[in-house]
Amino acid sequence: MDLRKRSVTAGRAWWAPRRCAPNFDICDPHPVFVAQHATATCCRGCLETWHGIPKGRPLDAAEQARIAAILMLWIGRDAARRR
Ligand SMILES: [Zn+2]
Repeated sequence: MDLRKRSVTAGRAWWAPRRCAPNFDICDPHPVFVAQHATATCCRGCLETWHGIPKGRPLDAAEQARIAAILMLWIGRDAARRR
């Protein structure tokens, strides 16, 4: 599965009403998981606080696309930093 698809599917699961991931200390987190926490797109609480997207309603297609784009941008920059 390519990263863009993974960004969207991971996002859909995480963007359900829930809190941040309880444990960040897993050994080999998926890049999207790391990116979601680096960009505060990990849960609806962070989306509301940091991105101004209110809880209590589904994300629309434009919001999902915007968040996936943020994740891809962050992952690309992170990869460049590591080179
Ligand atoms: Zn969060």
